[in-house]
Amino acid sequence: MSSSSSTTSAVLLNTGVQMPLLGLGTYKLVASEDVYRAVDAALVAGYRAFDSAAVYRNEADLGQALKQLLPKHGLTREDVFITSKLGPKDQGERAMEGALRSLAQLDLGYIDLYLIHWPGTQGLVVADQRNPGNRAQSWVMLEELHAQGKLKAIGVSNYTPAHMRELIQSCKVPPAVLQVEFHPRLCQTELRSVCEEYGVCFQAYSSLGKGELVTDPVVMEVAKHCERTPAQVLLRWAVQQGVPVLPKSSNPDRIKDNARLFDFTLSDTDMDRLSALDCGHKYCWDSSEVA
Ligand code: NAP
Repeated sequence: MSSSSSTTSAVLLNTGVQMPLLGLGTYKLVASEDVYRAVDAALVAGYRAFDSAAVYRNEADLGQALKQLLPKHGLTREDVFITSKLGPKDQGERAMEGALRSLAQLDLGYIDLYLIHWPGTQGLVVADQRNPGNRAQSWVMLEELHAQGKLKAIGVSNYTPAHMRELIQSCKVPPAVLQVEFHPRLCQTELRSVCEEYGVCFQAYSSLGKGELVTDPVVMEVAKHCERTPAQVLLRWAVQQGVPVLPKSSNPDRIKDNARLFDFTLSDTDMDRLSALDCGHKYCWDSSEVA
């Protein structure tokens, strides 16, 4: 085996399956050679989870890279955890077709976690009252593919507390994961308590604030006295709270650097200093107006 074995911890989902606390984000990883290089570096660094989406247009390249690289690193399909997402254009009656397309593009037999990417539907205004019906219809389709074993776990992304409560009240299979933006400037207190209440795993995206948070003065100061990089501090802040992270990088050195999260601890004082940066700032899209 040419790679290091996984050094990452995991969280237990309500399906009884473990999901790694660390995964590689792949938004904007598009050229097949870039995907291959990033996946190769990630497997060496101990990543065992990969986060894709239909809208990232890299499902086929990710699946292809894994099929080539898993044997190279002495790993099998079961050693990795693959997430993908239903695009907003397939929300509603096209959900089955969209999910089957993701399965075909990845071509890895099954998907470990499949999320509804966005509570709204492409082409409808946010306030459109057809949005709730469409996402309910998508969920039923995902439940069907889950029952067939094609989607091992199903969940949602960018849902607000109201969207979560609506889903919990109507679903047969409860969501395993809610994936949302989370970092010291956006602590998501209400969503985290909703997830805790319903046994849903709360997962972070954009932990580095799309790269912008690594130059925050408080983050830099904490990093300096811990002798760690700002990115490691931001990621450690989340995983120390049990929140899984998905840092994206196309740079093999950063991919390796971002994985060194499990050999140090932030003090309570540093955790509090970072959490005090919370100001509700979003670097990504805002779903709060979606009906
Ligand atoms: P992010 O992980 O917060 O930041 C990525 C940016 O930070 C890239 O520009 C990267 O540049 C840079 N970077 C990475 N490591 C670094 C380091 N050690 N030092 C300095 N800069 C560094 O942003 P994100 O891509 O928005 O979020 C991560 C993943 O979450 C996505 O890729 C995607 O898988 C998922 N996501 C999901 C949703 C959703 O709606 N569900 C939304 C957004 C993101 P280089 O590539 O040049 O290193």
